[in-house]
Amino acid sequence: MTALADILKARIARTGPITLADYMADCLMHPTHGYYATRDPLGAAGDFITAPEISQMFGELIGLCLAQSWLDQGSPAPFTLAELGPGRGTLMADILRATRTVPGFHAAARVHLVETSAPLRALQAKAVPDAQWHSDVTGLPDAPLFVVANEFFDALPIRQFVRDGDGWRERMIGLDGDTLTPGLSDPAPLAMLEHRLADTRDGDLVETCPALPACVQEISQRIATRNGAALIIDYGDWTSLGDTLQALRSHDRTDPFAAPGAADLTAHVDFAEIARHAAPARFTKLTTQGVFLERLGITERARTLAATLQGDARAAHITAHRRLTHPDEMGTLFKVLGLYPATAQPLPGLDP
Ligand code: SAH
Repeated sequence: MTALADILKARIARTGPITLADYMADCLMHPTHGYYATRDPLGAAGDFITAPEISQMFGELIGLCLAQSWLDQGSPAPFTLAELGPGRGTLMADILRATRTVPGFHAAARVHLVETSAPLRALQAKAVPDAQWHSDVTGLPDAPLFVVANEFFDALPIRQFVRDGDGWRERMIGLDGDTLTPGLSDPAPLAMLEHRLADTRDGDLVETCPALPACVQEISQRIATRNGAALIIDYGDWTSLGDTLQALRSHDRTDPFAAPGAADLTAHVDFAEIARHAAPARFTKLTTQGVFLERLGITERARTLAATLQGDARAAHITAHRRLTHPDEMGTLFKVLGLYPATAQPLPGLDP
């Protein structure tokens, strides 16, 4: 067991069961014992690996997509170039490198990173020296906003509810003896899940993400009124149905309640919820990562890079291309949703 487990057990013993969102928030961001608050979890040696860590091509294509949107909207200057949950800063560094030759882009860009983890902020500062940091999206300037979020929304805490008649039972974390154990609250009607009564049946489990609506609205407001675009990339689907809570440790799945603070906890992203809160901005069709990257020209880019490589480096590069795009790897599980102003074209690679 972990130090955080003892803290959570004492808290539950004192005040009763806690929501899954409260549990996740402490597991991920507790100031002294939280998973992200205390380490760099990314990369081959960490607990999981993300698209920008797999290949530079990912960030290059995201950069060109955002830059093309910026050009399409008349090159507003100055503008905010932002990333939510930038991890090691690799994606933003690749975006900046790939856009160096876009006329005026760097001169107009002000880089803003939204990050709560102190160790990851330190790594980001090395990769992206001239950035400004914020703990949440409310701190982003009121200016044109071109923003990317890769595997950010999946790290936001979720609540889970099981349908019971026209009411819902919430999955709460309590104690069974001395063990952290999920249980169910008594059923109650819930206004915020009214719209899910139409597409669920008795016993179905749905997930909500309490921080998502305000986060999406903050971004959409800036994009709709000041210009800009958002690329939201994550694993998940149009609508959440079923338990998608997942714990990863050293690249393996583990019990989410076994070692709080020592494993990464994520849930699939419910893209319909992002779309539901996108107004006044518009949202694109949900597109798989494989199709999106193909449309942006990843295969051509991969060939060009392959020509400069030999031996193991070349083999690794070919594997990386496959991992990002193939349906058996990240190509289909990961989805891309774009947000854009009603006055502009959707982002390259995405359909209205
Ligand atoms: N985008 C990066 C990292 C993904 S891991 C990549 O693709 O490699 C999730 C990132 O989101 C980490 O940087 C984590 O510290 C950050 N994060 C998680 N919850 C957050 C929150 N509530 N506010 C800000 N950043 C958060």
